Amino acid sequence: MLLSLLCACQIAASAPPLVVRVGDRVRSVPVVAHPEGGSAMRGDLLADALGGKLVSAGQGRWRFELDGSDVTLVVLAPFAVSGEDPLPMSSSPFRSGDRLFVPYALVSDVLPRAFNGLMYDGARLELRRFAPIVRRPIASRAVVAEAARSEARSEARSEARSEARSDAQSGGSGATQDVRAAMPPIITPAARPPARRRTVVVDAGHGGRDPGTTLTLGTQKIPEKTVALAVSLKLRDALAARGVTVVMTRTRDTLIALKDRGPIANRAKGDLFVSVHVNAANPGWKNPGAARGFETYFLAEAKTEDEARVAAMENEAVKFETSAETSSSDPLGFILRDMAQNEHLRESLTLATLTQDHLRQIHPGPSRGVKQAPFSVLVNSFMPSMLVEVGFGSNAAEARWLMSPQGQQKLAEAIADACVAYLAQYERKVGAGEP
Ligand SMILES: [Zn+2]
Repeated sequence: MLLSLLCACQIAASAPPLVVRVGDRVRSVPVVAHPEGGSAMRGDLLADALGGKLVSAGQGRWRFELDGSDVTLVVLAPFAVSGEDPLPMSSSPFRSGDRLFVPYALVSDVLPRAFNGLMYDGARLELRRFAPIVRRPIASRAVVAEAARSEARSEARSEARSEARSDAQSGGSGATQDVRAAMPPIITPAARPPARRRTVVVDAGHGGRDPGTTLTLGTQKIPEKTVALAVSLKLRDALAARGVTVVMTRTRDTLIALKDRGPIANRAKGDLFVSVHVNAANPGWKNPGAARGFETYFLAEAKTEDEARVAAMENEAVKFETSAETSSSDPLGFILRDMAQNEHLRESLTLATLTQDHLRQIHPGPSRGVKQAPFSVLVNSFMPSMLVEVGFGSNAAEARWLMSPQGQQKLAEAIADACVAYLAQYERKVGAGEP
């Protein structure tokens, strides 16, 4: 719905064109009004003027390629990704028909920061390419250095706790932490005062008389509610170890009404809301047992049949709730009609995108992408929210991994890293005086 709203806007030249200078060659790229305010331009024309190209990578992702280096853009996500690092932008790329429009910040801020060999001259509205394009080293960028330092601080704080726990836990990410500990501290002149402590609300899906789906491993059967709780408790510890306050919607095998999970998050003044679930294949699929992988949802109308299927499955928990637990009026329709004004939509998409990126690094299954669907549990939480389907209980290999403490620990660490990366990016935005 939001996409169509954006596409319906007038795409008309609104400002002087951008001048792109590559050696002696000068091209101009028309600048148009961005529907969110500010200005934008066609990504393909910009890439072409620079001697690069813009390539669709599917699922709303685009690669802006220059000399074998690239940054990734995501439709409606207010950041670009260079290597592993998100670089915030004041507005998001959007589509109009088959074209991707990029915010002006890509030219004035992101590209010169991501690459050596490019310079933006704001007085002349000119982007100059004066040398071969090379990705800038990570350590030179304050945002990354800052995130690394705060991570180092929180790891130092949690070291004692981790060591106490490590007797009881085998496996885990010990090797990665050793490498990080051996790295010299990164000093940045742009040090900011420590951010206020942030709160993440962790929601373990289902519970009590609502078992959710079933994970089957030979004769062993475990309900989704048990795995969701195990991952959520590990996520709580992983976030705490990173200096984040955590509020759980449940810590035991109890049923919390879907409509109550959001208000719990709101009362806790959460900064973001994470609901943890296990997926199940549609029995009607050609080979349901083969479906694998992880996907992250943010709240919006479902676009595809599969998204609608997952939403229907997770929303079914309502049938386990007594009338006292169920809200008399369903707010979903109203909220969805109001989606265009939902200030958290973009933030939730950013959060979901970061989560998929982190899960991709540890998950044995494929990334099924960032998806959108109307989940009841996300409706009442007035903060950036996502629902993570951590894998398929209907796939034997994946069920085994999801049931293992090692697999659960990896999931928890990856989701915690994504939350912390999102919060660091948010701090930076707030610090820069943006909303
Ligand atoms: Zn579920």
